Amino acid sequence: MELLRPDSAEAAAAALGNGSIALAGGTEVLPLLRDGLVRADQLVELRDAVPRGIDGDRIGAGTTLAELEADPDVPQALREACSLAASPQLRSMSTVGGNLLQATRCWYWRLKFPCYLHGGEVCNAKAGQHREHAIFGNERCASAHPSDPAAALLALGARLRTTARELPLAELYRLPTDDDRNVTALEPGELILELEVPRPEASVYLKAMERRKWSFAIVGVAAARFSDGVRLALAGVAPIPWALPSVDALEQATPLPGTAYKVQIARALVRRAVEAISAPST
Ligand SMILES: Cc1cc2nc3c(=O)[nH]c(=O)nc-3n(C[C@H](O)[C@H](O)[C@H](O)COP(=O)(O)OP(=O)(O)OC[C@H]3O[C@@H](n4cnc5c(N)ncnc54)[C@H](O)[C@@H]3O)c2cc1C
Ligand code: SF4
Repeated sequence: MELLRPDSAEAAAAALGNGSIALAGGTEVLPLLRDGLVRADQLVELRDAVPRGIDGDRIGAGTTLAELEADPDVPQALREACSLAASPQLRSMSTVGGNLLQATRCWYWRLKFPCYLHGGEVCNAKAGQHREHAIFGNERCASAHPSDPAAALLALGARLRTTARELPLAELYRLPTDDDRNVTALEPGELILELEVPRPEASVYLKAMERRKWSFAIVGVAAARFSDGVRLALAGVAPIPWALPSVDALEQATPLPGTAYKVQIARALVRRAVEAISAPST
């Protein structure tokens, strides 16, 4: 396998496709290659091609989760989401761009069951083990999106700049359909370069986990208060990061038999998150 190190975003984008894939921190790409879930002849390393660092409300896609959690100028919800993700070692390697594009942790998918997301007809998790799975958007695939930072960025109303366009983070994600099993709308060869993250008046990220450390979200709740209202988004509850239009929208959840408990947890975390960012009474 060949390792390419382009020195510009244009050169990196041009090198992608035809058996080559982008490599940022590698914490996701390398396990997927090792397990044969992704194949590549060339890895296109993004280190010198994608911006890294925090400049006001702009965050380079190559910024690590460790850098985000340590910067007091980063909105609290994003700092907390980063600090609760993975382990310190992984956070020092993991970039925010790679985090947004990580694949599902559904073990049927990881074990290469020919399930709906792999292009098959059925969701094996629905009929099988699905305690970690979705309570929203689970009609076809019941996987639970694993990214904590994505939920925080969704509540914060972040926008992305890519090599091809600018778009709201919400438009990066899509539920898989019969015609297209992808869960992102990124085109082949399109790279995320930068995020623009509005500053809220207050924000918070709360996460329920199996363990207190190093565990994916059973449910993650991000809440951000702006002058025009509160925005909520959830991790671990749908195949994509899930924007919750209101607290009451939790009652529209469609849990599987094994995920009904997540609705209870989401209710409690949403209530706590909204309380935590309430404007102080005058
Ligand atoms: C044990 C373990 C526990 C974890 N726990 C959590 C957790 O609790 N919460 C959480 O949120 N995450 C968790 N993660 C996921 C981890 O945060 C991601 O693996 C990491 O953020 C991916 O970033 P990376 O830079 O290593 O990406 P890579 O592995 O380099 O890339 C990931 C994907 O993104 C693509 N890519 C990378 N950068 C770009 C870009 N700029 N533009 C376009 N495509 C790009 C790559 O081609 C690849 O498809 C965990 C991971 C592990 C291994
Ligand atoms: S939840 Fe999605 S990834 Fe998991 S088995 Fe079902 S279709 Fe496949």
